[in-house]
Amino acid sequence: MGKAKKYVYFFGDGKADGRAEQKDLLGGKGANLAEMTNLGIPVPPGFTITTEVCTEYYRNNRNYPPELKKGVERALVRVERLMRAGFGDAVNPLLVSVRSGARRSMPGMMETVLNIGLTSRTIPGLVEKTGNERFVYDAYRRLIMMYADVVMEKAAGIEPPEGEGIRKLLEEEMDKHKASRGVRNDTELTAGDLKELVEAFKERVKSVLGRSFPDDHLQQLWGGIGAVFQSWQGKRAVAYRKIENIPDVWGTAVNVQAMVFGNAGESSATGVAFTRNPATGEPHFYGEWLPNAQGEDVVAGIRTPLPLNKAMRSRGQKKFKSLEEAMPALYKQLAGIRSQLERHYKDMQDIEFTIENGTLYMLQTRTGKRTGTAAIRMAVEMCVERLIDRKTALIRVKPEHLDELLHPMIDPAGEKKTPVLARGLPAGPGAGCGLIVLSADLAEKWRQEGKKVVLVRNETSPEDVHGMHAAEAILTAKGGMTSHAALVARGWGKCCIVGCGALAIDERARTIEVNGRVLREGDWITLNGTRGLAYEGCLALLPADPEKNPFYRKLMGWADRERRLGIRTNADRPEDARTARRFGAEGIGLCRTEHMFFDPQRIRAMREMIVAEDEQQRRKAVMKLLVYQKKDFEGIMEAMEGLPVTIRLLDPPLHEFVNLQPRQIAELAGELGVGQDKLRARIEQLHELNPMLGHRGCRLGITYPEISEMQARAIFQAAASLAKRNKKVFPEVMIPLVGTDREFLNQKEIVQRVAREVMREAGVRFPYLIGTMIEIPRACIVADEIARDAEFFSFGTNDLTQTAFGFSRDDIGSFLPAYLEKQILPHDPFQSLDAPGVGRLVEMGVQKGRRTRPKLKIGICGEHGGDPKSIRFFHRAGLNYVSCSPYRVPVARLCAAQAAIEHDSGG
Ligand code: ADP
Ligand code: MG
Ligand code: MG
Repeated sequence: MGKAKKYVYFFGDGKADGRAEQKDLLGGKGANLAEMTNLGIPVPPGFTITTEVCTEYYRNNRNYPPELKKGVERALVRVERLMRAGFGDAVNPLLVSVRSGARRSMPGMMETVLNIGLTSRTIPGLVEKTGNERFVYDAYRRLIMMYADVVMEKAAGIEPPEGEGIRKLLEEEMDKHKASRGVRNDTELTAGDLKELVEAFKERVKSVLGRSFPDDHLQQLWGGIGAVFQSWQGKRAVAYRKIENIPDVWGTAVNVQAMVFGNAGESSATGVAFTRNPATGEPHFYGEWLPNAQGEDVVAGIRTPLPLNKAMRSRGQKKFKSLEEAMPALYKQLAGIRSQLERHYKDMQDIEFTIENGTLYMLQTRTGKRTGTAAIRMAVEMCVERLIDRKTALIRVKPEHLDELLHPMIDPAGEKKTPVLARGLPAGPGAGCGLIVLSADLAEKWRQEGKKVVLVRNETSPEDVHGMHAAEAILTAKGGMTSHAALVARGWGKCCIVGCGALAIDERARTIEVNGRVLREGDWITLNGTRGLAYEGCLALLPADPEKNPFYRKLMGWADRERRLGIRTNADRPEDARTARRFGAEGIGLCRTEHMFFDPQRIRAMREMIVAEDEQQRRKAVMKLLVYQKKDFEGIMEAMEGLPVTIRLLDPPLHEFVNLQPRQIAELAGELGVGQDKLRARIEQLHELNPMLGHRGCRLGITYPEISEMQARAIFQAAASLAKRNKKVFPEVMIPLVGTDREFLNQKEIVQRVAREVMREAGVRFPYLIGTMIEIPRACIVADEIARDAEFFSFGTNDLTQTAFGFSRDDIGSFLPAYLEKQILPHDPFQSLDAPGVGRLVEMGVQKGRRTRPKLKIGICGEHGGDPKSIRFFHRAGLNYVSCSPYRVPVARLCAAQAAIEHDSGG
């Protein structure tokens, strides 16, 4: 028999059973409380009930393992001894908090109950002991409110209509009391006021919930513990896990911890801080605090918190006193802990602290969420400070972080001319523009209808998470930089402004008002989250310019040194090619020629070519297109001078170009000088039952060689004309949709002949390659044969996914959602490569191709080229490069570096 499972981990007095590495078992909060305790940092003692208890609880029909009770009792005795107080003791009572904590932080998802242990038995003792009746009743009214909300309502599965939850009702009760006393702040209520208030609270709880608030310390404790476990399967927690892809089986831990009181008087306080600025990444200590307050006050946005230090105060919050000035010695101690934690965890920490009568306690530390800008700056600076090495710095920046830097901002020209509607705190950077919505549900609904929305709330709570997710940006009237809205927005890299004090929201009238200006729900609003400014209307947004950011440049330089995959771009126009090159593209992996035809003049020539009855007519039409194409290719190759440019010959079904209304047919017939009936008949003829598998790709060039000939001529003439101007060009002609070597050879001969002709005519030479796109499963299987003639491969993973699964990408909307819901597929295979299936085809293509031609250059140019997970796959498959859309190029560079680092470290 093995040892009995340990369900309860103690921490206190410099020693803890657990460690930071045990997040799976102890949750993030519990593991870090243990770690801080072991580091000698002052932490109130307590214990952690493991996530295994949560798992077993759900496995056993919501019953605890029998050993749990003993474990809790034993740990509680140790806490009592250290605190020199007794839980439930009438003379010297101990109070505790019950706190949840899953492996990964889920802001506000799980609930905490403070001040557990206050009963009619213990209250007189605590009043006696502290000599502060006001404080005791302040703690008591908080306990009743939190407990009623979290334990008696939410965990019990009661779902009141919006705005009628018990917390809201009790808050209203409190506002009523404040109004009747003529005071504005909670702190102005006297002990007598609070005594009356708690009686009113208890009555309200009883009448609304039908049960009394428990007057027994143990009932409170176990009620709290149970509520944490219940809330793991609560609606909001489940919804958040879905968005964030957190498995249900992880479970949550529960922490029970001795209370320390930030609300014990003027030499008490509470606060939250980040060891570096989470919005900008600047290496200064950054945070907020409130004197005479309990933990949740800072985050809840009930009172506007004060700046932590002078450095922050000089950044705008001038009129408030900082902790550094109010309590200099304690601030110094806190700053010391800040450096100790950063040195230990080697990353930015998000911390909670409380000061009780001049003594500092740490209540939480965790790796802090940050904006993309901040993530990049911190990674680079921590590496320069030698806190972390280069590889760690590269791994630490997530693709989403980079993506954020590539986000748009408001066009400064337009912004300057627009009067500011409102100011708030810049909680999430970038710009966002959309229709004002006042509720999360409506935000989600409008979003589903394809509208862009900005969620405007007094403050946000976990109930709003789905609406926050749906919104382009978030604006709140209350709350500080560490409020729920700010935290969530930062985590997602979403534009967000909080604490916009001038904003008055009228939920009944569905309007917002700022200094007399009234906007309705559905009106446009634009936010500048970087500066904390809101504007009426929809302002023009500009694409991002990451190259201005020195930390970005440094990081990308490091990435380029680590990665072994080349990064190209998919671009059809010179502008796109230039953008991509600025972002670091090393060539074009796919230039789709058909996209060049959609201009009105060109499409006419194109249609003329398509409906041509015979070769001669077709040649005539084709020659008109040659002029345009040559010009386009010249522009693109010039933009990419010195780098390879892969150009794909015409690929889509011809029918796509003549999908015309009767009126358009009449027009076209007139232009071409043919009869309408004849034209209609020809179009009819082109119609296909299954165009995706029809007359397209190399099949076009094989049936109409003059098209391939013209395109090859355009490419090579463009190359020749650039070469004559001493520009270095490397055209690569790509034959699409090849399934057999004979198909490829047929087209290769045409292209090769044209190349020789053009070089002879122009009297210049330039290097070029002829290769193929691998996008038919058969091509993967006979890749060894195709590689005899093809000089490069480029996997077209969109079509390869279509043909491997037999899914038409344009039609998956009708069944893919069900496939994902029923877990028949783990993800959309068009977004992230299906490694076990399509991936195997890619590997086979690579192996067979290189068996014939060991140095065969192989790339990928499907949508997957910009997908982080797929990029890791392509790295391992030994490809030479990935090609993605211009705005994904930086992400691809970073992911390629991460893939190389992980691969080398055996990950
Ligand atoms: P969350 O995950 O929502 O931050 P926490 O468990 O961290 O929930 O607690 C909410 C607030 O209560 C925090 O400000 C925290 O510092 C405070 N708090 C929790 N436990 C205690 C305690 N034992 N003594 C004093 N404050 C506490
Ligand atoms: Mg916390
Ligand atoms: Mg294709």
